[in-house]
Amino acid sequence: MTDCLFCRIVAGSIPSTIVHRDDHLVAFRDIDPNAPMHVLTIPTTPIATLNDLSSEDDALIGSMFRRAAAIATEHGYADRGYRTVFNTNRESGQTVFHVHLHLLAGRGLNWPPG
Ligand SMILES: [Zn+2]
Repeated sequence: MTDCLFCRIVAGSIPSTIVHRDDHLVAFRDIDPNAPMHVLTIPTTPIATLNDLSSEDDALIGSMFRRAAAIATEHGYADRGYRTVFNTNRESGQTVFHVHLHLLAGRGLNWPPG
């Protein structure tokens, strides 16, 4: 079994609140939310960081953004607004090295981010 927390969520070996699952993506609630809605969308196959993407991943990454938008819409945030963020490596705050798209919604979000 992998040590990667998100691979274990994909495998179902640790509990999570799944909001979407298909063959390529899993979306689940962040266990330490930073907004009323904080969902992480991940690919089912692991990629460590955005630095590790290839052109073959273009459709996958596009589908992650479209899924996040669909989740925001389902929960009533499409018009209010929401933020989608990939953090990459240490100074950004990435702590799990399996790419994940944050979806944050439900409160005013500062710009620039801290
Ligand atoms: Zn992983």
